[in-house]
Amino acid sequence: MPNPRDTRDASDAIPADMPPADVDLARIERAVREILLAVGENPDREGLLKTPNRVARAYAELMAGLQDDPRRHLKTVFRERYDEIVLLRDIEFHSLCEHHLLPFTGRAHVAYLPDGKVVGLSKLARLVEGYARRPQVQERLTTQIADALNEELNPIGAACVIEAVHTCMTIRGAKKHGSTMVTSALRGIFKENPSSRSEVLALMHYGNGLKV
Ligand SMILES: [Zn+2]
Repeated sequence: MPNPRDTRDASDAIPADMPPADVDLARIERAVREILLAVGENPDREGLLKTPNRVARAYAELMAGLQDDPRRHLKTVFRERYDEIVLLRDIEFHSLCEHHLLPFTGRAHVAYLPDGKVVGLSKLARLVEGYARRPQVQERLTTQIADALNEELNPIGAACVIEAVHTCMTIRGAKKHGSTMVTSALRGIFKENPSSRSEVLALMHYGNGLKV
């Protein structure tokens, strides 16, 4: 039997590696139709006929992290005697500013200094993705990632630095083109010890890392 929700069309991108959130698609469709009417558009003209449904499915994808517990990615750990920094840099993410529901996109750099517990590198990327796919603010995204690492892996140190461009700033309001917001959250030794902090931040800056 065909899935009634499977109403994809050619404008759909390839699905992300996370299933869409189980949102009330019909309700979003009604709301989008209302927005179109409110701005003086005709939602029944040909070009807009499928728009409410497309928007609803796009939101289901962008909100997919809401029903996910990203910490689950840190539950499978390896016991490893490795006492140097593990860093995954330039993790691209797309999130939605919760103040305007406009996208903010950028890169996260995630590091930890293990104390016996190590996770696969792809898990760090999934952690970022899980917290990004929901209405967010960059500051909270940054601390959620650092806290999850710190509390699940009990490392000696954990760090997350995020640089992102907020379209609510670049396409409206202040229209600050090209401005990047940078946030950081440091835990454990990276917070307490200046030379450890310098080391992890230098690694994040290295090469194609942070431009600041
Ligand atoms: Zn905003």
